[in-house]
Amino acid sequence: MSNPQTTEMVCIACPIGCRLTVTETAPGEVEVTGNKCARGEQYGREEYLAPKRTVTATAPIASRTIARIPVRTDASIPAELIDELLRTVYTLSLHAPVKRGDILIENFRESGVNVVATRTVER
Ligand code: SF4
Repeated sequence: MSNPQTTEMVCIACPIGCRLTVTETAPGEVEVTGNKCARGEQYGREEYLAPKRTVTATAPIASRTIARIPVRTDASIPAELIDELLRTVYTLSLHAPVKRGDILIENFRESGVNVVATRTVER
């Protein structure tokens, strides 16, 4: 590759916050520099090639007490699925009672990631 793509980012795998430079050396291959340890190398590689995020949001719920219930994914999900996941969360049709930890969306798009309630709504 004559003009390699380079991205700067901060490693968030520990509080030190090393400044990483990720350079794409070939399609699907990267070189990470600036990391003080192997976790930073892994973080930079994944963040560049396949970024993932834990998602938090609120979903509508029919209840006597609140109109929306806080939810989150139970693991990180590929970034390209987040918009679709949020659209699905925003159009859920939930009815109280819902317990904290209840799975509201199971295995979203075969990602292995569930969306769970983070609050109990009794009624
Ligand atoms: S590269 Fe290692 S030492 Fe630096 S922030 Fe990441 S985890 Fe921490």
